[in-house]
Amino acid sequence: MKTTAGKERQGLSRREFLRNTAGGAGALAAAGTGLMARPAAAPRQAAAPPAAAQQFPFETPPPPVPADKISSVVRTDVVVVGAGTAGLLAALAAAKAKAGVVVVEKMDQLQGRGGDNTALNSKLHKKLGMTIDEDRVVDALMRRGEGRLNQDVVNLWARNSGRVMDTIIDLCAAEGLPTYLVIPDRGDDECAIIDKWPNPTGFPKDWDYLAERNVEFPTCHRPGGRAESQRIWLKAVEKAAQARGAAFHYGTKALQLVRPKADGRVTGVVAQKKDGSHVRFEARKGVVLCTGDYGFNRQMMAKYCPQMPLPCMLSTSMGEGHQMAMWIGAVMENPPHAPMSHMFHVMGTDAFLMVNRFGRRFYNEDSDTESMANQTYEQGGAWVVFDDSWEEDVPRMGPGFKRVFRVTDKARQEFRELVSRKPGGQWGRSIVKADTLDGLAAQMKVPAKALKATIERYNALARSGKDLDYGKRADRLTAVDKPPFYAEWTAKPAMSLVVLGGLLTDERLRALDKDGRVIPGLYLAGNTVGRRFKSGYPLICPGLSHSMAYTHGYLAGEFVTSE
Ligand SMILES: Cc1cc2nc3c(=O)[nH]c(=O)nc-3n(C[C@H](O)[C@H](O)[C@H](O)COP(=O)(O)OP(=O)(O)OC[C@H]3O[C@@H](n4cnc5c(N)ncnc54)[C@H](O)[C@@H]3O)c2cc1C
Repeated sequence: MKTTAGKERQGLSRREFLRNTAGGAGALAAAGTGLMARPAAAPRQAAAPPAAAQQFPFETPPPPVPADKISSVVRTDVVVVGAGTAGLLAALAAAKAKAGVVVVEKMDQLQGRGGDNTALNSKLHKKLGMTIDEDRVVDALMRRGEGRLNQDVVNLWARNSGRVMDTIIDLCAAEGLPTYLVIPDRGDDECAIIDKWPNPTGFPKDWDYLAERNVEFPTCHRPGGRAESQRIWLKAVEKAAQARGAAFHYGTKALQLVRPKADGRVTGVVAQKKDGSHVRFEARKGVVLCTGDYGFNRQMMAKYCPQMPLPCMLSTSMGEGHQMAMWIGAVMENPPHAPMSHMFHVMGTDAFLMVNRFGRRFYNEDSDTESMANQTYEQGGAWVVFDDSWEEDVPRMGPGFKRVFRVTDKARQEFRELVSRKPGGQWGRSIVKADTLDGLAAQMKVPAKALKATIERYNALARSGKDLDYGKRADRLTAVDKPPFYAEWTAKPAMSLVVLGGLLTDERLRALDKDGRVIPGLYLAGNTVGRRFKSGYPLICPGLSHSMAYTHGYLAGEFVTSE
Protein backbone atom coordinates (compact mmCIF):
# COMPACT_ATOMS: atom_id res chain seq x y z
CA MET A 1 0.00 0.00 0.00
CA LYS A 2 1.26 3.46 -0.89
CA THR A 3 1.99 5.46 2.19
CA THR A 4 2.52 9.17 2.55
CA ALA A 5 3.90 11.03 5.52
CA GLY A 6 1.23 11.64 8.11
CA LYS A 7 1.31 14.30 10.77
CA GLU A 8 1.87 11.88 13.59
CA ARG A 9 5.43 11.16 14.62
CA GLN A 10 5.47 7.73 13.09
CA GLY A 11 6.77 4.82 15.08
CA LEU A 12 8.02 6.91 17.97
CA SER A 13 9.55 4.94 20.79
CA ARG A 14 9.51 5.88 24.44
CA ARG A 15 13.21 6.61 24.26
CA GLU A 16 12.70 9.03 21.38
CA PHE A 17 9.82 10.61 23.24
CA LEU A 18 11.94 11.31 26.27
CA ARG A 19 14.86 12.42 24.17
CA ASN A 20 12.69 14.95 22.43
CA THR A 21 10.48 16.05 25.24
CA ALA A 22 12.19 19.31 26.13
CA GLY A 23 12.67 20.41 22.54
CA GLY A 24 9.39 19.04 21.30
CA ALA A 25 7.10 20.64 23.82
CA GLY A 26 7.28 24.13 22.38
CA ALA A 27 6.99 22.92 18.83
CA LEU A 28 3.96 20.82 19.60
CA ALA A 29 2.31 23.58 21.58
CA ALA A 30 2.78 25.95 18.65
CA ALA A 31 1.35 23.39 16.27
CA GLY A 32 -1.54 22.50 18.58
CA THR A 33 -4.80 22.30 16.74
CA GLY A 34 -7.30 22.75 19.57
CA LEU A 35 -7.71 26.22 21.01
CA MET A 36 -8.03 26.61 24.73
CA ALA A 37 -11.56 27.86 25.34
CA ARG A 38 -11.77 30.93 27.55
CA PRO A 39 -14.94 32.15 29.23
CA ALA A 40 -16.09 35.26 27.40
CA ALA A 41 -15.81 38.48 29.45
CA ALA A 42 -16.57 37.00 32.86
CA PRO A 43 -17.88 39.51 35.44
CA ARG A 44 -14.97 40.98 37.36
CA GLN A 45 -15.87 39.66 40.79
CA ALA A 46 -16.98 36.20 39.68
CA ALA A 47 -14.72 33.31 40.56
CA ALA A 48 -13.59 31.34 37.52
CA PRO A 49 -15.65 28.17 37.22
CA PRO A 50 -13.68 24.93 37.53
CA ALA A 51 -12.80 23.58 34.08
CA ALA A 52 -15.04 20.55 34.59
CA ALA A 53 -18.06 22.87 34.92
CA GLN A 54 -17.25 24.88 31.81
CA GLN A 55 -19.18 24.31 28.63
CA PHE A 56 -16.75 23.87 25.77
CA PRO A 57 -17.64 24.19 22.06
CA PHE A 58 -16.97 20.47 21.43
CA GLU A 59 -19.83 19.59 23.78
CA THR A 60 -22.46 20.97 21.42
CA PRO A 61 -23.38 18.42 18.74
CA PRO A 62 -22.94 19.81 15.22
CA PRO A 63 -25.88 19.71 12.81
CA PRO A 64 -26.00 16.42 10.89
CA VAL A 65 -24.21 16.41 7.53
CA PRO A 66 -27.11 16.99 5.07
CA ALA A 67 -28.14 14.01 2.93
CA ASP A 68 -27.42 15.88 -0.31
CA LYS A 69 -23.78 16.27 0.75
CA ILE A 70 -23.26 12.48 0.95
CA SER A 71 -21.68 11.50 -2.35
CA SER A 72 -21.39 7.76 -1.69
CA VAL A 73 -22.68 5.06 0.64
CA VAL A 74 -20.74 1.94 1.67
CA ARG A 75 -22.74 -0.91 3.23
CA THR A 76 -21.12 -3.57 5.35
CA ASP A 77 -21.58 -5.54 8.59
CA VAL A 78 -19.04 -3.86 10.84
CA VAL A 79 -17.45 -0.42 10.61
CA VAL A 80 -14.29 0.03 12.64
CA VAL A 81 -13.22 3.64 13.15
CA GLY A 82 -9.47 4.04 13.66
CA ALA A 83 -6.62 1.85 12.41
CA GLY A 84 -4.50 1.86 15.56
CA THR A 85 -3.84 -1.07 17.85
CA ALA A 86 -7.47 -1.49 18.98
CA GLY A 87 -9.01 -0.92 15.56
CA LEU A 88 -6.76 -3.34 13.71
CA LEU A 89 -7.47 -6.14 16.16
CA ALA A 90 -11.21 -5.41 16.03
CA ALA A 91 -11.07 -5.61 12.24
CA LEU A 92 -9.17 -8.90 12.36
CA ALA A 93 -11.58 -10.54 14.80
CA ALA A 94 -14.64 -9.38 12.87
CA ALA A 95 -13.15 -10.51 9.57
CA LYS A 96 -12.28 -13.89 11.10
CA ALA A 97 -15.95 -14.21 12.03
CA LYS A 98 -16.66 -13.83 8.30
CA ALA A 99 -18.34 -10.43 8.67
CA GLY A 100 -17.98 -7.71 6.10
CA VAL A 101 -15.56 -5.19 7.62
CA VAL A 102 -14.66 -1.64 6.70
CA VAL A 103 -11.97 0.30 8.54
CA VAL A 104 -12.12 4.09 8.40
CA GLU A 105 -8.86 5.85 9.28
CA LYS A 106 -8.16 9.55 8.96
CA MET A 107 -4.42 9.14 8.45
CA ASP A 108 -2.78 7.70 5.34
CA GLN A 109 -1.63 4.57 7.08
CA LEU A 110 -2.10 2.57 10.28
CA GLN A 111 -0.84 4.14 13.49
CA GLY A 112 1.39 2.55 16.10
CA ARG A 113 4.20 3.49 18.40
CA GLY A 114 6.32 1.91 21.11
CA GLY A 115 6.14 -1.85 21.27
CA ASP A 116 5.56 -3.12 24.80
CA ASN A 117 2.46 -5.30 24.99
CA THR A 118 1.52 -7.06 28.18
CA ALA A 119 -0.20 -10.46 28.06
CA LEU A 120 -1.14 -12.72 30.92
CA ASN A 121 -0.43 -16.42 30.38
CA SER A 122 0.44 -16.39 26.71
CA LYS A 123 2.01 -19.36 24.96
CA LEU A 124 5.44 -17.88 25.76
CA HIS A 125 4.62 -18.06 29.46
CA LYS A 126 3.41 -21.61 29.07
CA LYS A 127 6.53 -22.61 27.14
CA LEU A 128 8.67 -21.37 30.05
CA GLY A 129 6.44 -23.00 32.67
CA MET A 130 5.32 -19.65 34.08
CA THR A 131 1.88 -18.92 35.49
CA ILE A 132 0.76 -15.36 36.08
CA ASP A 133 -1.88 -15.07 38.77
CA GLU A 134 -4.62 -13.17 36.88
CA ASP A 135 -6.64 -12.47 40.02
CA ARG A 136 -3.60 -10.96 41.66
CA VAL A 137 -2.97 -8.71 38.67
CA VAL A 138 -6.59 -7.59 38.58
CA ASP A 139 -6.57 -6.98 42.31
CA ALA A 140 -3.38 -4.91 42.05
CA LEU A 141 -4.96 -2.79 39.32
CA MET A 142 -8.24 -2.41 41.15
CA ARG A 143 -6.39 -1.24 44.27
CA ARG A 144 -4.42 1.30 42.26
CA GLY A 145 -7.73 2.41 40.77
CA GLU A 146 -9.15 3.16 44.21
CA GLY A 147 -12.64 2.00 43.39
CA ARG A 148 -13.03 3.90 40.13
CA LEU A 149 -12.34 1.08 37.71
CA ASN A 150 -14.93 -1.09 36.00
CA GLN A 151 -13.86 -4.58 37.05
CA ASP A 152 -15.88 -6.21 34.26
CA VAL A 153 -13.77 -4.35 31.74
CA VAL A 154 -10.54 -5.11 33.61
CA ASN A 155 -11.52 -8.78 33.93
CA LEU A 156 -12.29 -9.01 30.21
CA TRP A 157 -8.76 -7.88 29.53
CA ALA A 158 -7.10 -10.10 32.13
CA ARG A 159 -8.92 -13.27 31.06
CA ASN A 160 -8.34 -12.77 27.34
CA SER A 161 -5.00 -11.01 26.82
CA GLY A 162 -3.07 -14.31 26.68
CA ARG A 163 -5.41 -15.81 24.10
CA VAL A 164 -5.26 -12.75 21.86
CA MET A 165 -1.49 -12.48 22.26
CA ASP A 166 -1.23 -16.08 21.05
CA THR A 167 -3.03 -15.02 17.87
CA ILE A 168 -0.56 -12.15 17.47
CA ILE A 169 2.42 -14.44 18.10
CA ASP A 170 1.17 -16.84 15.41
CA LEU A 171 0.53 -14.03 12.92
CA CYS A 172 4.00 -12.64 13.52
CA ALA A 173 5.56 -16.09 13.18
CA ALA A 174 3.84 -16.53 9.82
CA GLU A 175 5.56 -13.32 8.70
CA GLY A 176 8.92 -14.50 10.05
CA LEU A 177 8.73 -12.09 13.00
CA PRO A 178 9.73 -13.35 16.46
CA THR A 179 7.97 -12.41 19.70
CA TYR A 180 9.92 -12.04 22.93
CA LEU A 181 8.95 -12.04 26.56
CA VAL A 182 11.00 -9.22 28.05
CA ILE A 183 11.68 -6.88 30.89
CA PRO A 184 11.65 -3.51 29.07
CA ASP A 185 14.68 -2.21 30.90
CA ARG A 186 16.78 0.82 30.00
CA GLY A 187 18.41 -1.19 27.22
CA ASP A 188 15.35 -0.36 25.07
CA ASP A 189 16.03 -2.15 21.79
CA GLU A 190 18.27 -4.63 23.61
CA CYS A 191 15.81 -5.15 26.44
CA ALA A 192 16.33 -8.07 28.81
CA ILE A 193 14.78 -11.27 27.47
CA ILE A 194 13.19 -13.77 29.83
CA ASP A 195 14.68 -16.84 28.21
CA LYS A 196 14.05 -19.30 31.03
CA TRP A 197 12.21 -19.40 34.33
CA PRO A 198 13.09 -18.95 37.11
CA ASN A 199 16.51 -17.27 36.89
CA PRO A 200 16.56 -15.87 33.36
CA THR A 201 20.07 -15.43 31.97
CA GLY A 202 21.73 -12.27 33.24
CA PHE A 203 19.06 -11.55 35.86
CA PRO A 204 19.92 -11.37 39.58
CA LYS A 205 19.72 -14.90 40.98
CA ASP A 206 17.52 -13.90 43.91
CA TRP A 207 15.09 -11.75 41.91
CA ASP A 208 11.52 -12.15 43.11
CA TYR A 209 9.17 -9.77 41.34
CA LEU A 210 6.42 -10.32 43.90
CA ALA A 211 8.73 -9.21 46.71
CA GLU A 212 9.43 -5.87 45.03
CA ARG A 213 7.91 -2.75 46.54
CA ASN A 214 6.50 -1.91 43.11
CA VAL A 215 5.34 -5.30 41.90
CA GLU A 216 5.91 -5.53 38.17
CA PHE A 217 4.66 -8.77 36.66
CA PRO A 218 6.87 -10.37 33.98
CA THR A 219 4.23 -10.02 31.31
CA CYS A 220 5.70 -7.69 28.71
CA HIS A 221 5.81 -9.07 25.17
CA ARG A 222 7.55 -7.54 22.21
CA PRO A 223 5.88 -8.98 19.13
CA GLY A 224 7.64 -8.37 15.86
CA GLY A 225 11.13 -8.09 17.30
CA ARG A 226 13.23 -7.28 20.30
CA ALA A 227 13.17 -3.56 19.55
CA GLU A 228 9.91 -1.66 19.98
CA SER A 229 8.06 -2.60 16.82
CA GLN A 230 4.37 -1.93 17.20
CA ARG A 231 3.95 -0.71 13.65
CA ILE A 232 5.74 -3.74 12.24
CA TRP A 233 3.47 -6.30 13.86
CA LEU A 234 0.35 -4.21 13.29
CA LYS A 235 1.18 -4.39 9.57
CA ALA A 236 0.94 -8.16 9.87
CA VAL A 237 -2.50 -7.77 11.46
CA GLU A 238 -3.62 -5.40 8.71
CA LYS A 239 -2.44 -7.89 6.11
CA ALA A 240 -4.30 -10.75 7.79
CA ALA A 241 -7.50 -8.71 8.06
CA GLN A 242 -7.24 -7.68 4.41
CA ALA A 243 -6.69 -11.30 3.40
CA ARG A 244 -10.03 -12.04 5.06
CA GLY A 245 -11.76 -9.29 3.13
CA ALA A 246 -11.52 -6.24 5.41
CA ALA A 247 -11.43 -3.02 3.39
CA PHE A 248 -9.32 -0.13 4.65
CA HIS A 249 -10.34 3.44 3.84
CA TYR A 250 -7.34 5.54 4.71
CA GLY A 251 -7.36 9.34 4.56
CA THR A 252 -11.03 9.23 5.61
CA LYS A 253 -12.04 11.05 8.75
CA ALA A 254 -15.15 10.00 10.67
CA LEU A 255 -17.23 13.05 11.55
CA GLN A 256 -20.48 11.80 13.05
CA LEU A 257 -22.14 8.61 14.16
CA VAL A 258 -25.52 7.87 12.63
CA ARG A 259 -28.24 7.14 15.20
CA PRO A 260 -31.53 7.88 13.43
CA LYS A 261 -33.67 7.48 16.57
CA ALA A 262 -32.67 9.03 19.89
CA ASP A 263 -33.00 5.67 21.68
CA GLY A 264 -32.29 3.43 18.69
CA ARG A 265 -29.32 1.70 17.09
CA VAL A 266 -26.17 3.29 15.82
CA THR A 267 -26.35 2.37 12.15
CA GLY A 268 -23.19 3.86 10.75
CA VAL A 269 -20.72 6.70 10.41
CA VAL A 270 -20.49 9.76 8.18
CA ALA A 271 -16.94 10.46 7.13
CA GLN A 272 -15.07 12.88 4.95
CA LYS A 273 -12.37 12.00 2.45
CA LYS A 274 -9.36 14.18 1.78
CA ASP A 275 -10.97 15.58 -1.37
CA GLY A 276 -13.76 16.97 0.82
CA SER A 277 -16.43 14.51 -0.29
CA HIS A 278 -18.61 12.79 2.27
CA VAL A 279 -19.25 9.06 2.59
CA ARG A 280 -21.84 7.30 4.73
CA PHE A 281 -20.63 3.93 5.99
CA GLU A 282 -23.60 1.81 7.01
CA ALA A 283 -23.04 -0.99 9.51
CA ARG A 284 -25.59 -3.80 9.71
CA LYS A 285 -24.12 -5.16 12.94
CA GLY A 286 -22.42 -2.22 14.54
CA VAL A 287 -19.67 0.36 14.76
CA VAL A 288 -16.49 -0.21 16.79
CA LEU A 289 -15.04 3.12 17.87
CA CYS A 290 -11.24 2.85 18.20
CA THR A 291 -10.19 6.45 17.72
CA GLY A 292 -7.58 6.55 20.49
CA ASP A 293 -7.31 9.24 23.14
CA TYR A 294 -7.95 12.99 23.23
CA GLY A 295 -4.60 14.11 24.64
CA PHE A 296 -3.87 16.56 21.80
CA ASN A 297 -7.14 18.42 22.21
CA ARG A 298 -6.63 21.39 24.53
CA GLN A 299 -10.31 21.88 25.27
CA MET A 300 -10.81 18.26 26.23
CA MET A 301 -7.64 18.29 28.31
CA ALA A 302 -8.88 21.39 30.15
CA LYS A 303 -12.19 19.69 30.81
CA TYR A 304 -11.17 16.15 31.67
CA CYS A 305 -7.46 16.21 32.54
CA PRO A 306 -6.88 19.70 33.94
CA GLN A 307 -3.94 18.56 36.07
CA MET A 308 -1.79 18.27 32.90
CA PRO A 309 -0.62 21.71 31.81
CA LEU A 310 0.08 20.79 28.20
CA PRO A 311 -1.54 18.54 25.65
CA CYS A 312 0.00 15.12 25.07
CA MET A 313 2.04 14.30 22.06
CA LEU A 314 0.03 12.48 19.39
CA SER A 315 -1.50 14.92 16.95
CA THR A 316 -4.00 12.23 15.90
CA SER A 317 -5.40 12.17 19.44
CA MET A 318 -8.11 14.80 19.04
CA GLY A 319 -10.82 12.88 20.87
CA GLU A 320 -13.10 12.90 17.85
CA GLY A 321 -14.43 9.45 18.72
CA HIS A 322 -15.22 10.47 22.31
CA GLN A 323 -17.03 13.54 21.00
CA MET A 324 -19.02 11.69 18.33
CA ALA A 325 -20.16 9.16 20.90
CA MET A 326 -21.18 11.83 23.41
CA TRP A 327 -23.19 13.66 20.72
CA ILE A 328 -25.40 10.59 20.35
CA GLY A 329 -25.80 9.94 24.07
CA ALA A 330 -22.67 8.13 25.35
CA VAL A 331 -21.26 9.29 28.67
CA MET A 332 -17.72 10.19 29.64
CA GLU A 333 -16.32 8.72 32.86
CA ASN A 334 -15.90 11.25 35.65
CA PRO A 335 -12.82 13.48 35.51
CA PRO A 336 -10.02 13.94 36.26
CA HIS A 337 -8.69 11.33 33.85
CA ALA A 338 -5.36 9.54 34.00
CA PRO A 339 -2.43 10.78 31.91
CA MET A 340 0.32 8.32 30.97
CA SER A 341 3.42 10.11 32.25
CA HIS A 342 6.85 8.55 32.12
CA MET A 343 10.07 9.74 33.59
CA PHE A 344 13.53 8.25 33.86
CA HIS A 345 17.04 9.54 34.21
CA VAL A 346 20.45 8.42 33.00
CA MET A 347 20.18 5.48 35.40
CA GLY A 348 16.68 4.69 34.20
CA THR A 349 14.31 4.30 37.11
CA ASP A 350 17.03 2.98 39.39
CA ALA A 351 16.66 3.90 43.03
CA PHE A 352 19.58 6.30 43.27
CA LEU A 353 19.41 9.31 45.56
CA MET A 354 17.20 12.14 44.31
CA VAL A 355 17.22 15.70 45.60
CA ASN A 356 15.07 18.69 44.79
CA ARG A 357 16.05 22.23 43.77
CA PHE A 358 16.96 22.95 47.36
CA GLY A 359 19.33 20.01 47.66
CA ARG A 360 16.91 18.04 49.86
CA ARG A 361 15.84 14.42 49.54
CA PHE A 362 12.07 14.05 49.29
CA TYR A 363 10.89 10.42 48.86
CA ASN A 364 11.71 6.72 48.68
CA GLU A 365 13.39 6.60 45.29
CA ASP A 366 12.70 2.87 44.87
CA SER A 367 9.66 3.68 42.75
CA ASP A 368 8.23 3.18 39.29
CA THR A 369 8.37 5.59 36.37
CA GLU A 370 4.87 6.96 36.99
CA SER A 371 5.65 7.80 40.61
CA MET A 372 8.99 9.26 39.60
CA ALA A 373 7.27 11.49 37.05
CA ASN A 374 4.67 12.64 39.55
CA GLN A 375 7.13 13.17 42.41
CA THR A 376 9.46 15.10 40.12
CA TYR A 377 6.55 17.14 38.84
CA GLU A 378 5.49 18.03 42.37
CA GLN A 379 9.04 19.19 43.15
CA GLY A 380 9.23 21.34 40.02
CA GLY A 381 12.06 19.12 38.77
CA ALA A 382 14.70 17.12 40.64
CA TRP A 383 18.26 15.81 40.45
CA VAL A 384 19.39 12.20 40.56
CA VAL A 385 22.77 12.03 42.29
CA PHE A 386 25.28 9.18 42.17
CA ASP A 387 28.98 8.54 42.14
CA ASP A 388 31.69 6.59 40.38
CA SER A 389 30.48 3.31 41.92
CA TRP A 390 27.42 3.24 39.69
CA GLU A 391 28.56 0.10 37.87
CA GLU A 392 28.66 -1.79 41.17
CA ASP A 393 25.40 -0.26 42.33
CA VAL A 394 23.07 -0.91 39.40
CA PRO A 395 22.87 -4.73 39.74
CA ARG A 396 21.28 -4.16 43.16
CA MET A 397 18.42 -2.19 41.64
CA GLY A 398 16.64 -5.21 40.22
CA PRO A 399 14.92 -5.69 36.86
CA GLY A 400 11.98 -3.52 35.94
CA PHE A 401 10.54 -1.04 33.48
CA LYS A 402 13.40 1.26 32.41
CA ARG A 403 15.66 -0.01 35.18
CA VAL A 404 19.38 -0.38 34.59
CA PHE A 405 20.37 -3.63 36.21
CA ARG A 406 22.92 -4.99 33.77
CA VAL A 407 26.08 -3.09 32.93
CA THR A 408 26.39 -3.73 29.24
CA ASP A 409 28.84 -2.10 26.84
CA LYS A 410 25.87 -0.19 25.49
CA ALA A 411 25.00 1.13 28.97
CA ARG A 412 28.62 2.26 29.45
CA GLN A 413 28.66 3.95 26.05
CA GLU A 414 25.35 5.70 26.64
CA PHE A 415 26.55 6.88 30.01
CA ARG A 416 29.74 8.31 28.51
CA GLU A 417 27.76 10.01 25.75
CA LEU A 418 25.35 11.61 28.16
CA VAL A 419 28.09 12.85 30.45
CA SER A 420 30.05 14.38 27.59
CA ARG A 421 26.98 16.17 26.25
CA LYS A 422 26.71 19.90 26.91
CA PRO A 423 24.09 20.68 29.55
CA GLY A 424 20.73 21.45 27.95
CA GLY A 425 22.06 20.21 24.62
CA GLN A 426 20.29 18.24 21.94
CA TRP A 427 18.37 16.08 24.38
CA GLY A 428 17.53 18.99 26.62
CA ARG A 429 19.30 17.09 29.39
CA SER A 430 21.82 18.28 31.91
CA ILE A 431 24.28 15.85 33.45
CA VAL A 432 26.93 17.45 35.56
CA LYS A 433 30.14 15.92 36.90
CA ALA A 434 32.53 17.16 39.58
CA ASP A 435 35.32 15.85 41.77
CA THR A 436 33.91 17.46 44.91
CA LEU A 437 30.41 17.89 46.31
CA ASP A 438 30.97 21.66 46.42
CA GLY A 439 31.81 21.56 42.72
CA LEU A 440 28.73 19.43 42.02
CA ALA A 441 26.45 21.76 44.00
CA ALA A 442 27.80 24.76 42.12
CA GLN A 443 26.96 23.14 38.77
CA MET A 444 23.57 21.98 40.01
CA LYS A 445 22.91 25.50 41.33
CA VAL A 446 21.63 24.07 44.61
CA PRO A 447 22.83 25.28 48.04
CA ALA A 448 26.10 23.40 48.73
CA LYS A 449 25.42 23.26 52.47
CA ALA A 450 22.05 21.59 51.99
CA LEU A 451 23.33 19.13 49.38
CA LYS A 452 26.30 18.11 51.54
CA ALA A 453 24.05 17.66 54.58
CA THR A 454 21.64 15.51 52.53
CA ILE A 455 24.46 13.33 51.20
CA GLU A 456 26.09 13.01 54.58
CA ARG A 457 22.80 11.84 56.07
CA TYR A 458 22.12 9.49 53.14
CA ASN A 459 25.59 7.95 53.42
CA ALA A 460 25.08 7.43 57.15
CA LEU A 461 21.76 5.69 56.47
CA ALA A 462 23.48 3.52 53.83
CA ARG A 463 26.19 2.56 56.31
CA SER A 464 23.65 1.73 59.01
CA GLY A 465 21.55 -0.28 56.53
CA LYS A 466 18.31 1.41 57.56
CA ASP A 467 16.55 4.23 55.80
CA LEU A 468 15.02 5.98 58.80
CA ASP A 469 13.80 8.83 56.61
CA TYR A 470 11.89 7.21 53.73
CA GLY A 471 12.13 3.46 54.27
CA LYS A 472 14.07 2.46 51.17
CA ARG A 473 15.28 -1.11 51.26
CA ALA A 474 18.81 -1.39 52.59
CA ASP A 475 20.54 -2.85 49.53
CA ARG A 476 19.33 0.05 47.41
CA LEU A 477 20.79 2.69 49.68
CA THR A 478 23.93 3.41 47.68
CA ALA A 479 26.40 5.77 49.35
CA VAL A 480 27.57 8.78 47.35
CA ASP A 481 31.20 8.89 48.40
CA LYS A 482 33.43 7.93 45.49
CA PRO A 483 34.38 10.83 43.21
CA PRO A 484 33.76 11.89 40.56
CA PHE A 485 30.16 12.70 41.45
CA TYR A 486 27.34 12.98 38.92
CA ALA A 487 23.91 14.56 38.88
CA GLU A 488 21.25 14.69 36.22
CA TRP A 489 18.39 17.18 36.17
CA THR A 490 15.10 15.48 35.50
CA ALA A 491 12.74 18.25 34.58
CA LYS A 492 9.08 17.92 35.32
CA PRO A 493 7.36 16.09 32.48
CA ALA A 494 6.61 18.65 29.81
CA MET A 495 3.86 16.41 28.53
CA SER A 496 2.42 12.95 28.83
CA LEU A 497 2.18 10.31 26.15
CA VAL A 498 -1.58 9.79 26.04
CA VAL A 499 -4.63 10.22 28.29
CA LEU A 500 -6.42 7.11 29.44
CA GLY A 501 -9.90 8.53 29.95
CA GLY A 502 -12.93 7.25 28.12
CA LEU A 503 -16.60 6.48 27.92
CA LEU A 504 -18.76 4.21 30.03
CA THR A 505 -19.34 0.69 28.72
CA ASP A 506 -20.95 -2.55 29.80
CA GLU A 507 -19.18 -5.90 30.08
CA ARG A 508 -19.45 -6.42 26.30
CA LEU A 509 -17.78 -3.08 25.57
CA ARG A 510 -21.03 -1.49 24.42
CA ALA A 511 -21.40 2.23 25.08
CA LEU A 512 -23.87 3.25 27.78
CA ASP A 513 -26.12 6.28 27.94
CA LYS A 514 -26.74 8.54 30.95
CA ASP A 515 -29.34 6.13 32.31
CA GLY A 516 -26.94 3.19 32.06
CA ARG A 517 -28.75 1.73 29.05
CA VAL A 518 -26.80 0.10 26.24
CA ILE A 519 -26.55 2.15 23.06
CA PRO A 520 -27.21 -0.63 20.54
CA GLY A 521 -24.68 -0.96 17.75
CA LEU A 522 -21.88 1.08 19.38
CA TYR A 523 -18.80 -0.76 20.69
CA LEU A 524 -15.66 0.78 22.14
CA ALA A 525 -12.05 -0.37 22.35
CA GLY A 526 -8.66 1.12 23.19
CA ASN A 527 -8.49 4.56 24.71
CA THR A 528 -12.15 5.33 24.10
CA VAL A 529 -13.00 2.87 26.91
CA GLY A 530 -13.48 4.48 30.30
CA ARG A 531 -12.94 3.41 33.90
CA ARG A 532 -9.73 1.43 33.30
CA PHE A 533 -7.37 3.77 35.17
CA LYS A 534 -7.82 6.32 37.92
CA SER A 535 -5.24 9.06 38.26
CA GLY A 536 -2.24 7.58 36.52
CA TYR A 537 -0.83 4.69 34.51
CA PRO A 538 0.54 2.03 36.84
CA LEU A 539 3.46 0.04 35.50
CA ILE A 540 2.21 -3.13 37.17
CA CYS A 541 2.38 -4.82 33.78
CA PRO A 542 4.46 -2.89 31.23
CA GLY A 543 2.63 -2.47 27.94
CA LEU A 544 -0.77 -2.48 29.61
CA SER A 545 -2.25 0.22 27.41
CA HIS A 546 -1.43 -1.65 24.21
CA SER A 547 -2.57 -4.83 25.87
CA MET A 548 -5.99 -3.43 26.69
CA ALA A 549 -6.19 -1.94 23.19
CA TYR A 550 -5.43 -5.20 21.37
CA THR A 551 -7.47 -7.36 23.75
CA HIS A 552 -10.55 -5.15 23.94
CA GLY A 553 -10.25 -4.47 20.21
CA TYR A 554 -10.27 -8.18 19.40
CA LEU A 555 -13.12 -8.85 21.83
CA ALA A 556 -15.19 -5.95 20.45
CA GLY A 557 -14.72 -7.47 16.99
CA GLU A 558 -16.01 -10.78 18.36
CA PHE A 559 -18.90 -9.21 20.27
CA VAL A 560 -20.15 -7.08 17.40
CA THR A 561 -20.21 -10.02 15.01
CA SER A 562 -21.99 -12.29 17.47
CA GLU A 563 -25.00 -9.94 17.71
C1 LIG B 1 5.65 7.53 21.99
C2 LIG B 1 4.64 6.61 22.60
C3 LIG B 1 5.04 5.33 22.91
C4 LIG B 1 4.13 4.46 23.50
N1 LIG B 1 4.55 3.21 23.80
C5 LIG B 1 3.69 2.36 24.38
C6 LIG B 1 4.10 1.03 24.68
O1 LIG B 1 5.20 0.61 24.35
N2 LIG B 1 3.20 0.22 25.30
C7 LIG B 1 1.93 0.63 25.61
O2 LIG B 1 1.16 -0.14 26.17
N3 LIG B 1 1.51 1.88 25.31
C8 LIG B 1 2.36 2.74 24.69
N4 LIG B 1 1.92 3.99 24.35
C9 LIG B 1 0.49 4.33 24.51
C10 LIG B 1 -0.30 3.60 23.44
O3 LIG B 1 0.31 3.77 22.17
C11 LIG B 1 -1.76 4.05 23.33
O4 LIG B 1 -2.32 4.20 24.60
C12 LIG B 1 -2.50 2.98 22.50
O5 LIG B 1 -1.96 2.88 21.27
C13 LIG B 1 -3.92 3.25 22.30
O6 LIG B 1 -4.40 2.47 21.22
P1 LIG B 1 -5.69 2.91 20.46
O7 LIG B 1 -5.93 1.92 19.41
O8 LIG B 1 -6.75 3.22 21.45
O9 LIG B 1 -5.34 4.32 19.82
P2 LIG B 1 -4.37 4.70 18.64
O10 LIG B 1 -3.28 3.74 18.49
O11 LIG B 1 -4.00 6.12 18.88
O12 LIG B 1 -5.29 4.60 17.36
C14 LIG B 1 -6.37 5.48 17.12
C15 LIG B 1 -6.53 5.63 15.63
O13 LIG B 1 -7.76 6.31 15.34
C16 LIG B 1 -7.52 7.25 14.31
N5 LIG B 1 -8.55 8.28 14.39
C17 LIG B 1 -8.74 9.20 15.36
N6 LIG B 1 -9.80 9.97 15.08
C18 LIG B 1 -10.32 9.52 13.92
C19 LIG B 1 -11.41 9.92 13.10
N7 LIG B 1 -12.17 10.96 13.42
N8 LIG B 1 -11.65 9.23 11.96
C20 LIG B 1 -10.85 8.20 11.59
N9 LIG B 1 -9.79 7.81 12.30
C21 LIG B 1 -9.52 8.45 13.46
C22 LIG B 1 -6.12 7.74 14.61
O14 LIG B 1 -5.54 8.37 13.50
C23 LIG B 1 -5.43 6.44 15.00
O15 LIG B 1 -4.94 5.77 13.89
C24 LIG B 1 2.80 4.87 23.77
C25 LIG B 1 2.39 6.16 23.43
C26 LIG B 1 3.30 7.03 22.85
C27 LIG B 1 2.83 8.40 22.49
